[in-house]
Amino acid sequence: MSRSGAVQCLCCPTLWNRHLDNATSRGNSRTTDRRRTFRPDYVSFAGTYQCNLSCPHCCVPIEWTDYLPIPVAVRFLEECHAAGLRTLGFTGGEPFLYPDFLVAVTKRAAELGFRFDKLMTNGLWHKDAAHAAVVLADVRDAGFTGKIGLSVDKFHGMETTRLVEFAKAVRQVFADDTALSLSYASSAPDKGLEPIRRLAAAVDGVIEWSDLLHRYLLVSNDFTMTLNWNHLAPVERAEKLPTERWDGTWFTEDYCEGPGQALIVNPRGEVKPCCGFASDLDQLTIGNIHTQSAEEIIRAGREHPYVGKVFREGLTAIRDEILARDPAALPGVTSNHCYFCWYVLTRGLANGVNGGGGKIGAWTDTTANFTGQLVQLGVKR
Ligand code: SF4
Ligand code: SF4
Repeated sequence: MSRSGAVQCLCCPTLWNRHLDNATSRGNSRTTDRRRTFRPDYVSFAGTYQCNLSCPHCCVPIEWTDYLPIPVAVRFLEECHAAGLRTLGFTGGEPFLYPDFLVAVTKRAAELGFRFDKLMTNGLWHKDAAHAAVVLADVRDAGFTGKIGLSVDKFHGMETTRLVEFAKAVRQVFADDTALSLSYASSAPDKGLEPIRRLAAAVDGVIEWSDLLHRYLLVSNDFTMTLNWNHLAPVERAEKLPTERWDGTWFTEDYCEGPGQALIVNPRGEVKPCCGFASDLDQLTIGNIHTQSAEEIIRAGREHPYVGKVFREGLTAIRDEILARDPAALPGVTSNHCYFCWYVLTRGLANGVNGGGGKIGAWTDTTANFTGQLVQLGVKR
């Protein structure tokens, strides 16, 4: 999730970071926009929660078996286009476990003239190089022109040999040395790079910092990949990870413009306004594409007591409101936007929405923990 970072697969940090390859100018222009409100220009589909991995920091309920029906997704895509959204991305779960969805939605999006952002993946779903090439070629032939966003960090698979196999298949199928970008979740941009360094060594590449892009690049004869950092939020499965939550610095307001201003559709058709680590919370649901149109969902987002405020007044307004009511309401100060968001939502500290929701540990239940349904935070069930 810019914040420079937040993203992942529906959480998956596989999902986050979607804007980062082109975000700098977009984000800057938005934060000076006086008509600040929820005005999504990006739609992202998670066709499935299912995943071939089980990362310790994942906040996707990968145990759930729901698949988003293709006709429902295509209809919503068309409504998004009519509402002025022009960019499409894919997340999950592992999106490549539902290739028919990728191909069908990509095909319609290409017909409508959508710009493609990232198709996030862990790059380890394929049986072998030939399998990867066939599926990737189907997506390419459907019209996908975005980047394949590969999650490489200590939480995702660290099977360097298979990642190289996948990266080479992408390079070959798309005939483009920039077709891949990398995402990594860690506590700071210069931390957690070891798995990427191993990948770089395996493709005879180097990792270099770009002053221009303000991020690292992996460069070799065959690849030029940008590295996108996700600020790891220790929530849900990751709640017990030894990473600093209240790190002593308040986050810098960005109105969730990095990860936000999106309609993120999960396999149950629920729509969230962002792909932050807290985004699976029921409190951030602004609609469902099975029963509502894109216009209705955007309007609901603007009118939502929490979401509307985040995009209109910012997280700092929510923070200030909480502390004005009770200066001891928060255990500390944090630079991590999405951790703050998850904390205040699950604890019921924000005005207008119930507490509860979320999940600690693996998702063993078949339903979400809805708002008001309190879970014992900090205890793995
Ligand atoms: S298990 Fe890992 S790869 Fe799969 S959705 Fe979760 S974070 Fe992404
Ligand atoms: S709304 Fe919350 S979870 Fe989403 S990007 Fe903003 S801070 Fe993160």
